[in-house]
Amino acid sequence: MIKILTNATLVQLDPAQVETGIDIALEHGQVIKTGRALTTFYPDAAIISMDGKLVMPGMVCAHNHFYSALARGITADIAPSPDFLSILKNLWWRLDKAIDREVLQASAIVGALEAVRAGTTTVIDHHASPNFIRGSLGVIREAFEKVGLRGILCYETTDRNAEAGMTDGIAENTEFARQIDRNDDNRLVEAAIGGHAPFTLNDTALAMLKKAIEETGRGIHVHVSEDGHDAAFSRQHYGEDPLARLHRFGLLNEKALIVHGVHLTGKEIDLLNENDGFLIHNPRSNMNNHVGYMENIQQVKNLAMGTDGIGGDMFEEFKFSYFKHRDAGGDWWPDSIAKMLQNGNRILERYFGGDFGAIQPGCRADLTILDYYAPTPLTAENVAGHIAFGMGSRDVNSVMVNGKFIYRNREFPFEIDSLYATARKAAEKLWKTM
Ligand SMILES: [Zn+2]
Repeated sequence: MIKILTNATLVQLDPAQVETGIDIALEHGQVIKTGRALTTFYPDAAIISMDGKLVMPGMVCAHNHFYSALARGITADIAPSPDFLSILKNLWWRLDKAIDREVLQASAIVGALEAVRAGTTTVIDHHASPNFIRGSLGVIREAFEKVGLRGILCYETTDRNAEAGMTDGIAENTEFARQIDRNDDNRLVEAAIGGHAPFTLNDTALAMLKKAIEETGRGIHVHVSEDGHDAAFSRQHYGEDPLARLHRFGLLNEKALIVHGVHLTGKEIDLLNENDGFLIHNPRSNMNNHVGYMENIQQVKNLAMGTDGIGGDMFEEFKFSYFKHRDAGGDWWPDSIAKMLQNGNRILERYFGGDFGAIQPGCRADLTILDYYAPTPLTAENVAGHIAFGMGSRDVNSVMVNGKFIYRNREFPFEIDSLYATARKAAEKLWKTM
């Protein structure tokens, strides 16, 4: 059945475009035609009037941790954590150990709901639950499918929890990728191969990750040089920079998702660029953990943006990305941040195949619809400025993934009060256990 979204204000970020009075025809989860008065071309189509609302390609959150969705406002007893390593030890490595199936279910559902309400159509998740490894990605996938959110999932392999924890992490990644491969082609959820960070991945772990990447045809999703500690540890123990070490193990390819990279050297960025991998920038998390600013960010070829577990609101991350860059003395304008955000769609093309991130024939119909009241003219030249200085997730009216409304006129097609109540209960249990 063909659907036509009529009278939309079509907004695209890269290349920037703002055009009013546009009809968008959709079929089989794709855009099939855009233009004026399309209803005459398709007289039998279902017509959905946009009444001038903004319709833009859906937003991609390229790095998130839904397991941390229940950490908001945490009141567990946490020792003072002045540096990055103590934040991991005192908070995150205690929290992830306390996650069981029930907590993960609740956490993934609210993570997905929050992302969609903010206009995000894809979340690339990086998961850890050392006491519930096998089967954990299937639980997260169920939440994505219930909400209708697109995703790429992986498990954070680490050598922190003995040999068994490491092999289970690898097995969870490869088995999940195989499950996906047995699925139909119109999949909503894809798989990557996850690793925590070079300082918790010994050489055995890196060799296993390489094998998993080869066997599954996927890419690595890993934190690298988030804090100066990761780089210092690598130089001290292995005599080389962390990304050079990953490269020596053959872990960099066009599907590689290298997260943070705050302390990458120019040479490491060259390696990433030569291998056509991605750098995922998480400005709010970097500020929260006081790990510094990636001064050489403009040298990276493939940039995308994530939240690193601080919700799923890419409008918010956009603003921090821009203001932090300006604060650090960078010379980017908002249009460069818009390109970075938009570029998350290139990751989807490499994992799912097909075209993403544009409203044009043949492209996946993952769309964000906003009832934004522009106080000044909105044009292709200033649309990124509107996002940096105004437009936000409060303006999100509806969200479509694969041509289907998963959120419409600010409502989900199922009730969410009980899901949030379950999450609050699970959060209390989680805080007590940890
Ligand atoms: Zn992260």
